[in-house]
Amino acid sequence: MTHHHMITTALLLALALPAAAQPVAAPLVGTEEVKSEDRVETWKGKSIMVFTPHPDDDTFSMGGTLARLAENGNKITIVIYTNDDKGSRDLEMTSERLARIRRAEEEEACRLLGIAKENIVWLGYEDGNLEYADPQRLRGEVARLIKIHRPDAVFCPDSGTKWDQWHKTDHRMAARLTKDAFIGAEWHLYYPQHLLDEGLKPYSVPVAYYFYSQEPNYEIDIKDKIDLKGQAAAAHVSQFEPSLDKYTPEMPALVLQKIKEGFLEANKSGEGYVERFRREEHP
Ligand SMILES: [Zn+2]
Repeated sequence: MTHHHMITTALLLALALPAAAQPVAAPLVGTEEVKSEDRVETWKGKSIMVFTPHPDDDTFSMGGTLARLAENGNKITIVIYTNDDKGSRDLEMTSERLARIRRAEEEEACRLLGIAKENIVWLGYEDGNLEYADPQRLRGEVARLIKIHRPDAVFCPDSGTKWDQWHKTDHRMAARLTKDAFIGAEWHLYYPQHLLDEGLKPYSVPVAYYFYSQEPNYEIDIKDKIDLKGQAAAAHVSQFEPSLDKYTPEMPALVLQKIKEGFLEANKSGEGYVERFRREEHP
């Protein structure tokens, strides 16, 4: 690796990790106190749904939490809005190939965190085009999944004015649409065919945890999962240099080290490591 390339790698890594850096950069406000048996760290046997715009926002924002939830025997369903088929600077890359690569990378990241690929639901919308999809239909798709899985908790991106300045299209849409789908799932007359055709009863999501939040009020201890989170993040090889520029399935040791250091920095809190969320009951 040339000196020039090392500098490029470091710079691009700094650019490549805004998602990881943002949520923890926001300070806790109005901290939510919950009974110790309700703490996410202690959950066992619950059904959890995660809605993520791209196949990596889940890893970057809550990889440590996911590893802990999986280890504690919770059932995790990851719903991914887009196939991430645009994020490459390699001029020889095609969308079809990139979508396949991104799927395999997400499956590997999930495997490392303890989530089987069978628990990943791909909605398959094109990267960067979620706001141009039919929102009525999309909300129905998400409401239907909520009625099927009846989650004890949902994790999804937070919305908000300031955050919209850096949120890109799929993030804005995933934040607003997932929350709108809670209502679509709760009231059977929004999508009456779910009940009439499939016998799916309405369902009210009891609690939501929003990642990428401007106003986090809850943090989850991930100190024993921070290394694993870095490892899982590094499974998204195509999203980091040198692979972003010219695709190669190999992750250079230096880049892996930088990624791990990036999360050690982003998730640090006092002596430990945390992931931050805005917690909302009866969302
Ligand atoms: Zn994203």
